[in-house]
Amino acid sequence: MSPHTLMTIGQQFERRSWAEPWKIKMVEPLNIISREDREKALINAGFNTFLLRSEDVYIDLLTDSGTGAMSDRQWAGMMLGDEAYAGSRNFYHLEAAVQDFYGYSYVVPTHQGRGAEHLISQAAIKPGQFVPGNMYFTTTRLHQELAGGIFVDVIIDEAHDPQILHPFKGNIDLEKLESLIKREGAEKIAYVSVAGTVNMAGGQPVSMANIKALREMTDKNGIKLYLDATRMVENAFFIQERESGYADKPIAEILKEFCSFTDGAWMSAKKDNLVNIGGWLAVNDRELFEELRNLVVVYEGLHTYGGLAGRDMEAMAIGIAESVHDEHIFSRIGQVRYLGELLTTWGIPIVHPVGGHAIFLDAKAFYPHLKQIEFPAQTLAAELYLDSGIRSMERGIASAGRNAETGDHNYPKLELTRLTIPRRVYTQAHMDVVAESVRAAFENRGKTRGLKMVYEPKYLRFFQARFERI
Ligand SMILES: *Cc1c(COP(=O)(O)O)cnc(C)c1O
Repeated sequence: MSPHTLMTIGQQFERRSWAEPWKIKMVEPLNIISREDREKALINAGFNTFLLRSEDVYIDLLTDSGTGAMSDRQWAGMMLGDEAYAGSRNFYHLEAAVQDFYGYSYVVPTHQGRGAEHLISQAAIKPGQFVPGNMYFTTTRLHQELAGGIFVDVIIDEAHDPQILHPFKGNIDLEKLESLIKREGAEKIAYVSVAGTVNMAGGQPVSMANIKALREMTDKNGIKLYLDATRMVENAFFIQERESGYADKPIAEILKEFCSFTDGAWMSAKKDNLVNIGGWLAVNDRELFEELRNLVVVYEGLHTYGGLAGRDMEAMAIGIAESVHDEHIFSRIGQVRYLGELLTTWGIPIVHPVGGHAIFLDAKAFYPHLKQIEFPAQTLAAELYLDSGIRSMERGIASAGRNAETGDHNYPKLELTRLTIPRRVYTQAHMDVVAESVRAAFENRGKTRGLKMVYEPKYLRFFQARFERI
């Protein structure tokens, strides 16, 4: 290409580009298998992308959980692991990082997010109590239900519509919450469970105004407020971008302010905190902490390692500090947005506005000829894999499971296929390849047949269910 051609291409872009605030020091080769082999692999996996072998996957957008790239600092930290059974130095680094950046008083390490969800659910829910939340998350709701709690969705209605451009679609509907409190009584509410950037709604944020108002309402009624902080750093980015008064505040400051309105948080550190494994639980109440610190010994490990190696806690402590750098979060969300803008330009139906960690393809709009029970989102994930070896996942009827009382399928309004972007792993060129594969599936949409479920596990069925083509 002559310099002249390059210049012409460059001039087509009006905006100034962002770029990753890092360079690549080590690479991992990708594997591409043939379409025939992908067909075989998909049948072997029962059309469930969770059952594919990673070797058979080209670009892996199954999840952003534990799939990020650690920095050279974090890898150096791994070599400083203090693998003592009790009182590891790395635990104290982790404790200090959570206290500094999230602002809670007491910290319990866990092996990952659901370990923390298990502990808080057991400690803070009495059987028969309600747990209102801004849309469910799979593992969160399951642990709340296993503890005898009854989940109630109190997210604003806009969250259930993939096309409404509300800036804070993760917000809690305060009227829905208030009427629940009035109807059932405050003592029947275990706590309010609020998630920063709501995964199942498409990575949609909660505003600072909403959490403040929520704090007022819960205080008035003597109800605790706990945060699923898994993606709270990404949420802080959206507050900085969209809420008045926050444009000049650093991400770290916004994060801490938001957390200050809550009584505690649980964390899957495999997401925002930039590690391959780890989690934590943090609270301000001394008595609750004593109980959690006792429970962690039963289910995870001693309270200074919680199922983790010392080196993992060190990497987490460093990851927490890296995760709140403004340039990091800007490029993280910039990459997701790049993919979203490309697809939107091509007229492909996705959830708007584009959220923090993933692009959600609207499978109902892809396949209007499929009934929801023919698993449109699962079908789209299978089609993408066949086309290019890209792995995505279902967030629709399979993920929603069954109603605990009636035994019927839950029929969620949103039927989505998620392209989840791991942190610091893929390049913009990979995003182009992904977008082109989605376009190919979209062009082929009229010819696509749905699936039927032929094996259904009891818990979190989407992980291990098997399907066949209709
Ligand atoms: C991933 C996730 C969890 C569960 O964490 P794990 O580390 O996978 O056990 C909980 N809440 C949210 C919002 C998540 O994204």
